[in-house]
Amino acid sequence: MAPHPPRYAGGPCFACGEPWPCFERQLSTLVEFAGRGELLVAYMGDWYRLGVEERRRRGLPPDPDLELRHLGWLDMVLPAQGEQRSGDAEAAPPRRPMPGGLRPMPGDLLHVTRAASVQFVRPIFFRVIRVHDDWHTYHGWLWLDGYQTDSKGNAVDRRSIYVRPAGLRWLNHAARPPAPPCR
Ligand SMILES: [Zn+2]
Repeated sequence: MAPHPPRYAGGPCFACGEPWPCFERQLSTLVEFAGRGELLVAYMGDWYRLGVEERRRRGLPPDPDLELRHLGWLDMVLPAQGEQRSGDAEAAPPRRPMPGGLRPMPGDLLHVTRAASVQFVRPIFFRVIRVHDDWHTYHGWLWLDGYQTDSKGNAVDRRSIYVRPAGLRWLNHAARPPAPPCR
């Protein structure tokens, strides 16, 4: 078990009592996920979402520093935006311009692979219900609510996923409103 666990998601550290993830846990997490920056972002993103939900469930006020503590220190482990790491080339599919850009919309059917997040080593099919604009996220990442589906498009599980839209593949698009004129 990793040292300095949280007392509960969104709460203080069980070991030192500091707001979680405390400095010691951030350090040990950096070591644990060395060389796997994307997995670390997905991991801390999961903790961040759980923290927001758990604080709400316990009737605690939102913690304004929660996002910074979970995600604000991850810049150091990720390549700069747009930079392609060597050895990761197969993860970047050739990209065609998508209607409405690369942003998912409710109703879209997506193929979510490890290009969207390394937690999807086993790709899934995903029908988008909603995009969480109200949840702060690490830049270049999004929370999506929706249904995991089987290959025929039948819903098998409702879940929230944390992904990089740039790594998603669209299987089909929901109808979109006409694009606004360029300003
Ligand atoms: Zn601690």
